[in-house]
Amino acid sequence: MSKILAVDLGGTKIAVAMVVDNQIITRKQVPTPTTSKQMTMVLSELLMPFINEAEAVAVASTGIINNGILTALNPNNLGGLDHFPIQSTIENITQLPTMVINDAQAAAWTEFQLLDNSISNMAFITISTGVGAGLVIDKSLQIGKTGLSGHAGHMLADPNGPNCGCGRKGCVEAIASGTAIGVAGQAFWGSECTGQMVYQHFLAGNLDAKTIINHSAKTIANLIADLTISLDLETVVLGGSVGLAEQYLQQVQHYLQQHPTAYQTNIKLAHSGADAGLLGAANLYCKNFKS
Ligand SMILES: [Zn+2]
Repeated sequence: MSKILAVDLGGTKIAVAMVVDNQIITRKQVPTPTTSKQMTMVLSELLMPFINEAEAVAVASTGIINNGILTALNPNNLGGLDHFPIQSTIENITQLPTMVINDAQAAAWTEFQLLDNSISNMAFITISTGVGAGLVIDKSLQIGKTGLSGHAGHMLADPNGPNCGCGRKGCVEAIASGTAIGVAGQAFWGSECTGQMVYQHFLAGNLDAKTIINHSAKTIANLIADLTISLDLETVVLGGSVGLAEQYLQQVQHYLQQHPTAYQTNIKLAHSGADAGLLGAANLYCKNFKS
């Protein structure tokens, strides 16, 4: 039996759950604080009620996790939490063994468990505030020496594209993310325009919104084609608020079908939704440290 206290630290919310034998038992969620001092207090309040029942803490976090410290290619996504020592902070609060990995990597691991057993190579791509990815190659989750594996949202999509928060120009994230969709929509619907508003216009048949959403979907299709040809992917799983939005998968499939056959792969929607990070982190802890 395993009793893991799982934490999902996202850009907008922190979720905490007791995961017993890969099943979520209790779950709590609060908004993500914006300073490291508040973060330590909030983590303490969230984790303390569970520490007597848990044997370990497994964290799926936004950003890059290197030696237990949180950073990001795009520090704008982290606000005041850049360089937050997440692992040691949680170890100090709970006095429990603690593992921290990137949230897209954790979600990729969860989605991989749900695929057909014959599949060895897959990518999970989340299109939401940013664009993240996790890779499983030869049935093994790729984390990398510095935690960077799978940051495919910062691969080059258009050398003349918009500036990306990572400092590069024309990354996938700067064109395809929900944030980028909102920014593109500001030319038509004003400075308050969000990705969600553009998407509603798209679903209502607006042609300007269609151009923006198609550009995002085409960029993701190009990314899938590049990953497929370099990693021999058998399946790609799409997640995130944009990735799971009505008609988005069909748009991506439409553009991917225009590539030569070798670049094409099977695309599916994520199954585990908001719990993918929590379940993936807990499962990886058990796999790596228990047996
Ligand atoms: Zn970038």
